Amino acid sequence: MKISNRRFPQVLAICGIDGSGKTTQLRMLAKYFTDRGVKFKYVWFRWTVLFSYPFLALCRLLGYTKWRTIEKSGVRYAMRNFYRNKAIAKLWPWLFAIDTLIRAAFSIYIPLKLGYFILCDRYMPDIVVDLMGDTGDPDLLKRLPGKLLVTFVPKHSIIFLIDLDEQTAYRRKRDTPSIENLKEKRKLYLKLVQVFRISVIYGGKKIEEIHREVVERLNLVT
Ligand code: ADP
Repeated sequence: MKISNRRFPQVLAICGIDGSGKTTQLRMLAKYFTDRGVKFKYVWFRWTVLFSYPFLALCRLLGYTKWRTIEKSGVRYAMRNFYRNKAIAKLWPWLFAIDTLIRAAFSIYIPLKLGYFILCDRYMPDIVVDLMGDTGDPDLLKRLPGKLLVTFVPKHSIIFLIDLDEQTAYRRKRDTPSIENLKEKRKLYLKLVQVFRISVIYGGKKIEEIHREVVERLNLVT
């Protein structure tokens, strides 16, 4: 069976905490669409450092970014404690939003114009959650850069959130900082459900069951 691209949303994205099963589901969806002859582009959408590079370098010099090592895997990650400085916490969402817009232009808007259907591993909600964590601001969406990030989502997007308890998600991966970190992020994701019109799927089910549910929900809206 060949399905016309027009039956699908322009962007299909899966969000959620690390270990919730996003990549697994997206790979299955990629196969699903390939088998049906749908032309799509797979995008790993996480913020890219462009204009914010000098700012981040300065924050590192000033000691607001700390490198930590995850014990169980030895993986290093940057902890951005920007909430400790008011000016930095205010400026960071703007720079983040500008870099995200540029990234979105190349990874999403232009491919959409070229007729691609976009399959996104992570999306604007993941960016907003990271930003809320860095700045310690759970009310970011009430502020202009937060509102802008919501408007960056193309109209015909479908966003799924795979929601999973933090303990299970932590067990599934070796490169997540801590259960506490996942718990905080999970809370933030759930806060975003309404504003981003996210469809929540329980991530504790079997891989194939989740895939079936995603496809069923997709068919309901297309
Ligand atoms: P994410 O992209 O959200 O970080 P992954 O898709 O990489 O998560 O999955 C992390 C690990 O969990 C992988 O080893 C994957 O095989 C496993 N996994 C994914 N979904 C499930 C599931 N529903 N049940 C059990 N294990 C799963």
